[in-house]
Amino acid sequence: MRYLTADYVFPISQPPIKNGVVVIDDEGRILDVTLSVVEGQSLNKIEYYNGILCPGFINTHCHLELSHMKGAIPEKTGLAGFIKDFIAARKTFSLEQIENGIAAGEKEMLENGIVAAGDICNVSDTFKQKAKQNLVYYNFIEGFDFFPENFSGEYTRMVNVAEELKKIFPEAKNNFVPHAPYSVSVLLFRFIGEEPDKIISIHNQESAEENLMFREKRGKIIEFFSLMGMDFSNWKASGKSSLQTVLNYFPKKNNVLLVHNTFTDAEDIKFAEAYSKNIYWVTCPNANLYIENKLPNYNLFIAAEAKITIGTDSLASNYSLSILDELKTISQKFPEINLEMLLQWATLNGAKALGLQNELGSFEKGKKPGVLLLENINLDTVSLTSESKVKRLV
Ligand SMILES: [Zn+2]
Repeated sequence: MRYLTADYVFPISQPPIKNGVVVIDDEGRILDVTLSVVEGQSLNKIEYYNGILCPGFINTHCHLELSHMKGAIPEKTGLAGFIKDFIAARKTFSLEQIENGIAAGEKEMLENGIVAAGDICNVSDTFKQKAKQNLVYYNFIEGFDFFPENFSGEYTRMVNVAEELKKIFPEAKNNFVPHAPYSVSVLLFRFIGEEPDKIISIHNQESAEENLMFREKRGKIIEFFSLMGMDFSNWKASGKSSLQTVLNYFPKKNNVLLVHNTFTDAEDIKFAEAYSKNIYWVTCPNANLYIENKLPNYNLFIAAEAKITIGTDSLASNYSLSILDELKTISQKFPEINLEMLLQWATLNGAKALGLQNELGSFEKGKKPGVLLLENINLDTVSLTSESKVKRLV
């Protein structure tokens, strides 16, 4: 049994406790969270730390298979520019480089206190590493066919990736998900929507061009794909935002993770929250700055009481796989968002989004969420500083 205490304990399931104590068993399971040292707890058994204790971080959006591409793509070129550079750069790596990148990316997540990740898989490259079970993964097998005539080929490809996953995790489901509103045909959307019992993830409104495409059938996304030889002559604009065009393909009972939301407005948030109670808004601020140099307006989401979670996206569009680095970026640009709320996004909201809340995300009796120490905190304002660090204690 261990007794851990620090300046503050953030259980997440209840308000922060000054000098609180987290009691865990030898397996790391939470036995109790108390206000202070109580009688019967032998004082010399207590471990004292400077800073904040919180549960392990949940990374709700990652592409571990792209970890080898760190620094390979220029910054701030916009989404269409990023995709163009990405396609050219992805061909230039060996299998050894890819596998080394995956192992290093996972190690980085572990060192940064991440205990679970929602990970996008276009290929099966990460499965060998995931078999080691160092981290809990929810694997999203992602498809993009663009036009209905490509559906059957893409379907076969996705099934093959799913079969590879089942060789390692026989109980794995077919977690097929759509890449983005602009890269998936009606056929693939319908097929994904009909598959039961899974969590859906989709890149959403990452660029202003995406809305322009669906509202007015113009802009850089259409220009880029037309240049690549795609024929949009039969494709019709809906006249609505991309989110309002595609959301109704997804069953209301399924958790839906909308990823990025950089260009989502108050009307879109209202629309989605009215559509379903199971919407999770995944933000990846450092990737948004890398690609579009813009952040979502978090105040719109907070005002709508929308459930926000944090993702790192991939090292192709980020400098680290660190939830704490994402939180620092948000708190620098939006200092009015307090640490209690930020940590809820980084832990319990993410666990709920990935269906892992029975075990992870908060200090509640019986859970095994991991225990993190956040150091170099401004204790006067109880907020992060640029020097804040994370260390995993349990
Ligand atoms: Zn992504």
